[in-house]
Amino acid sequence: MALRTLDTLAARLGGPLAGTRVIVRCDLNVPLQDGRITDDGRVRASLPTLNALIHQGARVVVCSHLGRPDGAPDPAYSLAPVAQRLSELLGKPVAFARDTVGPSARDAVAALGDGDVAVIENLRFDAGETAKDDAQRRAFAHKLAALGDALVSDGFGVVHRKQASVYDLAEILPSVAGLLIAKELEVLDRLTENPQRPYTVVLGGSKVSDKLGVIAHLLPRVDKLLVGGGMMFTFLAAQGHPVGASLLEEDQLDTVRGYLATAKDKGVEIVLPVDAVVAASFSADADHVVADADALEDTAFGASGLGLDIGPRTAEAFANEIRSSATVFWNGPMGVFEMPAFAAGTKTVAQALTEVDGLSVVGGGDSAAAVRQLGFSDDRFGHISTGGGASLEFLEGKRLPGLEVLGWAQ
Ligand code: ADP
Ligand code: MG
Repeated sequence: MALRTLDTLAARLGGPLAGTRVIVRCDLNVPLQDGRITDDGRVRASLPTLNALIHQGARVVVCSHLGRPDGAPDPAYSLAPVAQRLSELLGKPVAFARDTVGPSARDAVAALGDGDVAVIENLRFDAGETAKDDAQRRAFAHKLAALGDALVSDGFGVVHRKQASVYDLAEILPSVAGLLIAKELEVLDRLTENPQRPYTVVLGGSKVSDKLGVIAHLLPRVDKLLVGGGMMFTFLAAQGHPVGASLLEEDQLDTVRGYLATAKDKGVEIVLPVDAVVAASFSADADHVVADADALEDTAFGASGLGLDIGPRTAEAFANEIRSSATVFWNGPMGVFEMPAFAAGTKTVAQALTEVDGLSVVGGGDSAAAVRQLGFSDDRFGHISTGGGASLEFLEGKRLPGLEVLGWAQ
């Protein structure tokens, strides 16, 4: 079965959308600092669907989660600043309800005219949103359903979650996928169905264990796998190199040795760093030097040295591999990019992705934040996925409940 798309919504409802209350489940889970949005990428990504609905005169009810409040109202996680930003980006007023399914939400929806927009408060202020108990989740989904006549599901970042607004609500109301989900799937399909070759995957980030599934699933499908970030040290250790005090997951050593063997069998090249930036401690102003990958403990810091970035020779080698590929998927920063002293590897890799003659995709929350923080604009990449976990689970070939409920099957 194929994904039910936005252009079929009017037909499903038996008439034009004007006057219809359409709930849009967005992923507006943006990073906030002191109540200010530090990266509005997810708000921008929600605009095409919202504008399409506004244009057709729908009465648009936007809902989303933000952060991880404890299933109860918490002002630190209010969507109010997001509603404000959305209003600026849409160039029109956006009403804001102070509760999720209570009187304020009902009043805000009742006051909507055709083409108007309201945002209801954080879905996760109600424990029903993420409840494991089916009945509790369903009960909350029914309260949400009372606010609309149809659902457009467009929060790609949450499609791997079986949650009330993502899954149950889509079963209760007539539902279709929004334009963002459709676009994300189109790009991810191009990574899984006959990708243009050479196909290179670049993995980094903090933990190997987070990415085991995706490594196992991608290994037989790619030409090259470049490994940087914190996980590189488990790979180096698996090859017998001491890694000092760097991030090391000892319990993954056997698995990683297995990957290295599989790669050899399948003719896939796993490209590991030849050098790394080793620091005296985990801090922005720590002393640091470049060391060869097989001599990480031979610095002045000895066995207490911490590898916090790939080294310059590695960065250049990775950049060359990336530039000569036709398809590149990148997940996970190459180093602790949050500290400028350890951001160079991530920056070089990001730059190389912008130079790919073909499809370049960045997936992962921290990876997307890293490229923006390092000054790269979104349009320099083929695609920046709004969903880290969701895009990885897609590439792992896992079932995604929030998509299956919209008719999609992998
Ligand atoms: P994403 O969200 O893109 O999937 P991850 O969550 O897997 O990425 O990893 C991001 C984190 O990995 C960043 O906070 C970064 O500081 C950290 N990281 C990268 N390299 C290292 C390293 N060598 N040592 C410790 N942490 C690292
Ligand atoms: Mg992350």
